[in-house]
Parts: sequence; C-alpha cells; structure tokens
Amino acid sequence: MKFCRHPFEYFRVKNTDGDIQACAWTNDKAIIGNLLRQDLPEIWNSEAASRFRKSVTDGSFTYCNKDACPYLQRNELSEAKDKAVITPTEIPAFIQIACDETCNLCCPSCRREVFIPTKQQKANMEILHQKLLPYYKYAKHINFGGLGEVFVSPFYMKILENFNHENPDTIISFETNGILFDKDHWNKISHLGNYDLRVNVSIDSLYKPTYDYLRRGVDKCSGNFEKVKGNLKFMSDLRKNGEIKLLSICMVVQDNNFLEIPDYIKYGIYDIGVDRVVLRPIWQRGSFTEAEMFVKNVRNPAHPYHVEFLRVLENPLVKHPQVMMWSGDRMINRKDIMVVGARVDLLKQLFNLGIRSRSLSKYLKERSITKICIYGADIVGQVIADGLSNDGIIIGFMIDRSVRSYKDYKLLRLEDVKGFTDVDAVLITSVLSFDSIKDDVMCKHSIDEQKLLNLESIIKELADTTI
Ligand code: SF4
Ligand code: SF4
Repeated sequence: MKFCRHPFEYFRVKNTDGDIQACAWTNDKAIIGNLLRQDLPEIWNSEAASRFRKSVTDGSFTYCNKDACPYLQRNELSEAKDKAVITPTEIPAFIQIACDETCNLCCPSCRREVFIPTKQQKANMEILHQKLLPYYKYAKHINFGGLGEVFVSPFYMKILENFNHENPDTIISFETNGILFDKDHWNKISHLGNYDLRVNVSIDSLYKPTYDYLRRGVDKCSGNFEKVKGNLKFMSDLRKNGEIKLLSICMVVQDNNFLEIPDYIKYGIYDIGVDRVVLRPIWQRGSFTEAEMFVKNVRNPAHPYHVEFLRVLENPLVKHPQVMMWSGDRMINRKDIMVVGARVDLLKQLFNLGIRSRSLSKYLKERSITKICIYGADIVGQVIADGLSNDGIIIGFMIDRSVRSYKDYKLLRLEDVKGFTDVDAVLITSVLSFDSIKDDVMCKHSIDEQKLLNLESIIKELADTTI
C-alpha cells in the first residue's frame, strides 16, 4: 500500500492563532493541535495527530489535498517497507514556521490586501517561537516562510539572525521573492551558510511586463524586477561559493506566464545555475473569484489555452531533470472544471481577441456605450464583467436566473429588473439562446431592440476586422 512519511515527522505552524498541521497540503480538518494552548509533545502525541497518521497508513488519505500535494499528483508515494517508517519520530524532524504573512508584495495569486500583523498577532508569534525554541535542536530541517517574505518579517529575521544550532548538517530553508536578497541583507544572516542552506526564489516571470503584472509591490515601487534579477546573480554566486547549498526558482504557472516556461527554465539552469526550477500550479487561496481562477488556471482541460499549455509542456526543456513539475499537467480536482462545449469555444474566441487588449471595450466605447447591463452571469459573463470594468465600462447590473452574487456587481433576475433606461445597452452573453432571451426581455420591458447586443455576433465582427 502507498504510504507517506510526512505526518510522522512534520510539524507546521500554520498561522498566528497557533494552529498546527502535520503537512502543508492537507485540508482544513487536518489541524492536529494548537501551540498557543498546548505544548509541542502534547500535540505531537495527540489523538488528532494519530488520526491523521492513520489516514495515510490505511491508504484513505482523507485529509490530503490531492490537487496540492506533489506526491499524490505525480503518483510518487512509495510502499511502507517496515514498521519503523510508520512510527513517528520522538520529536518532529521537520519544523515549518509559516505563521507570518508579512510581505513587500501583494501578488494577486496570494492575497487581495497587504497583510500587517496586529499587536496580538505579533505577541502570538513570539509565544509560538518561545514554545518551539527547545525543539529546534532536534529538528533535521527547519523551514521559514511559505506565505510571507522572510526579509521583511521582523519575526523571521530575528530567528534567522540569532540562529545558532550545533549540528552543521541541519537543513535551513526558506522561500523569498528575492527583492531584498542583496549583500546587506545577506550579511545579517550569512552565518546560515554554515548549515545546509536551501533557498527557493519565487519569481513568476523573468520578463518585466509579466513580472510587473503578476508581482505587484505593496508600495507600488518600480524597479523590483531589476532588483530581483541583480539579486539572482548575487545568489548564484553564493551558490557557486557553496554558501547556499541548494538554490531553486519557482514559477506559479498561470495564463499570463505559461508561454514563458521554456525561457524561464533556460535562464534558471544555464544563466543562473540554479539546482532546480519548480513549476507550481496556481491554487485557489481565496484571493480569486471562481471566474478569475478559471481564467488563470491553464491546467484546467476546459481552459481555452489548455491545449497550448500542453504544447509548451512538450518542449524538451520542461523534461530537463532539474525541472520539477509540481503537479503533472492536468487537474485531478474535477469539480474545478467548470465550462464545457460552446462556452469553451466562446471563451477561447474572447481570449484570442484579447479581452485584456480591450477590443470588446473599445467596440462598445466607439458606439458611445459606457454603461452596460450584462445578461448572463456565468463564467463567461463574469470574465466579461471583470474585463470591461477594468477598461472603464460601468457594469450597471447583471441578470441571471441562478447566479445570486458575483463580487460587488448588482445581480438581478429578469423579473426583478425595473427597466433598462439607466444603461446604454444589454450585452447578452448566452449565445445559444440569444433569440429567446431577446424575446423575453422585449416582452417584459419596453426597450429598443438596438440596445440588445449579441456577444457572439460582436465576437465574429471583431474577429473579421482583426483578420
Ligand atoms: S498531502 Fe501529500 S505529503 Fe501531505 S500527508 Fe498527504 S500524501 Fe503526504
Ligand atoms: S511574494 Fe509570495 S508571499 Fe508575497 S504576496 Fe507574492 S506570493 Fe504572497
């Protein structure tokens, strides 16, 4: 039977509330204890920890998030050969401290708002650190960060600056966005070079326009891209000198950057000399709506660019042994596959026209349409609403029979609409039933037929003019 060793040696401080996981890729039910209320041994030997361990020894993997776990995704779990491996270490061998989300970036894939810890959260972090302090020396691997930036977190920096562990074989690892990994910051933690130091730089693109779009600075400061590129060279030298023992770069693969994957790999392996290039899937961390997630996630077989994505994966560079494809190429979480058939075609046409290159909004503006009603609030309507409102078209309201809310847009059923005088046009996105919707609207309301726009016809018109 397949088996995973993680729950038998891993202790992760998930948040400032003190929740503890025995693996980062588990679902919310897999909290094994709380370090603010309990001590480490009590949590480690708790019933909840045993329950979680049992779920991997009985093969059910009940608490595992199968879409996030690289071992499950890539079918890499091995068999449990003897009893020793299914016994937990006395004290966690791997401690991950991931409770401080402080960061100098505000990437859309990660958060909607800047995280600033409250006084209470800072106090909690200190308590958590003090409670872990006696156990660091038993750990073989200590990891910092994960959901924050170590160099801007006073909490992480204090631990790293004062790190003094007897065993030089201890693995110290952290993830950084690289903006502050310069000589000055390195000087503060250079003693970590005496250990098995592993650094993962999360950088979603090595192409400035994409980087600036995906990695937004908290202070809107420009120049981050140039800093990261310079710092990557600095880190590369540290790797060559042996102070960093393992250097990797990591891209969260999404609609905006997947075409850059081969160049990204080439630059990482051949120009910078990293040990590993990690291609990570984009996850729903709560910062995206379903529609935004759909647009981002090219791994979804229903995504209009999925075929192109698979084509990119055929590039020999992607098969390079130093590339870690975190999760294979396809979704296994079928419930995320949301649209089929005609809707995919329509989305593909929209994407190809470049909803972000403003063709649809330009079309409307040229006809003096600046405020619109969108009929149909499924994935297509949502993608269009986001695209148009980004381009300055006002979404007066949306109409849908079953979707009750989407972001802050006003959503109504047709029966509840008072009239259309307030908007310049109604864009009907439900192409298959345009005529029946048109009849329905005109039967219930007095509206000029010219005000009813058929999305499919507009797309055709735009495609013809583009050609
Ligand atoms: S999510 Fe993956 S790594 Fe974590 S316990 Fe389950 S199988 Fe192991
Ligand atoms: S750099 Fe990392 S931690 Fe910071 S906002 Fe971006 S994804 Fe989140």
